Amino acid sequence: MISIKGLSKVFRTKDQDVHAVNDLEATIDSGEIFGVIGYSGAGKSTFIRLLNRLEDPSGGTINIDDREISSLSKGDLRLARQDMGMIFQHFNLLWSRTVEDNIAFPLEIAGVPKEERKERVDELVELVGLGGRGTSYPSQLSGGQKQRVGIARALANRPKVLLCDEATSALDPETTDSILDLLVDINAKLGLTIVLITHEMHVIRKICHRVAVMEDGKIVEEGDVLDVFLRPKQKVTKRFVDQVMGDPDRESSLSLIKEEYPLGEVAQLHFVGERTHQALISEVSRKFQVDVNVLHGKITQTQKGAYGTLIVHLEGEKEEIERALTYVRETSVEVEVAL
Ligand code: ADP
Repeated sequence: MISIKGLSKVFRTKDQDVHAVNDLEATIDSGEIFGVIGYSGAGKSTFIRLLNRLEDPSGGTINIDDREISSLSKGDLRLARQDMGMIFQHFNLLWSRTVEDNIAFPLEIAGVPKEERKERVDELVELVGLGGRGTSYPSQLSGGQKQRVGIARALANRPKVLLCDEATSALDPETTDSILDLLVDINAKLGLTIVLITHEMHVIRKICHRVAVMEDGKIVEEGDVLDVFLRPKQKVTKRFVDQVMGDPDRESSLSLIKEEYPLGEVAQLHFVGERTHQALISEVSRKFQVDVNVLHGKITQTQKGAYGTLIVHLEGEKEEIERALTYVRETSVEVEVAL
């Protein structure tokens, strides 16, 4: 749906040319949550600003639904921008306007009649969980509530894509989680494509389907989040994965749906990401439909009884298994793992 080819942006400063985005290639599918992670200066902000033409590219093309947006005229660009909503780290709300009036702002600009505006705003206030706060001013809201206003405003013109620029970086962890849950909800309910940039692996792991790792203006690694998480190839990716390793809140135990497992049978273990109720499920049980097959394990010991302990010997690199254990939380039945 979004196809980016050879995209580059050079900032010419007095002393030097800065290649903020450098020959970047990416494809983002319709309806997916696509995360871009990178350290400060990697080019993430420039990339997301190029996507809605807040910056003009120095080279390359951006096709959104087969429309080339990098060379649109001003009038066409204004229309194309309505297909893109954007939310920001510091919310960028209008402080002199109420919640409702902030959300209505893009509708006013688009010339939507008053009655229709009101209806749409009421709908959005409910969608983002701000019922009853419509007449409050931003200064009367918490950070999380402000970002909910930002999200509602970004969705006002029914965009096809929501761009999130470090949308949770100014929020505490609990509020971050609630905003991420809201984004997942919106993605599922509206089928909206979400592109987010962040420097936090936790954000990627929690909600993204795919991730691209940026360094020096380029995407240096890309793939399904789980694959990248378990088998990071680049040094920079490993550093991001390590951010969430060893975090005591994220310590996880392996779990399997317990059935009668014959000793020594090779079980295929499957992980399902947090976004789909994280659990580790055995192929042997065949109780669940599963997505991703990441590691193989050999059942070396099982205890008699309905819900006994299962000892699984996981095959794989120690590092890989440790990452898997960190990735998986939530238990249905306990499993001891012999590493
Ligand atoms: P990130 O969002 O990953 O921190 P940015 O896209 O903000 O990265 O910046 C990438 C590089 O481009 C940095 O070296 C930054 O200093 C430079 N840069 C960004 N915007 C400008 C600008 N308007 N003028 C000059 N250099 C810029």
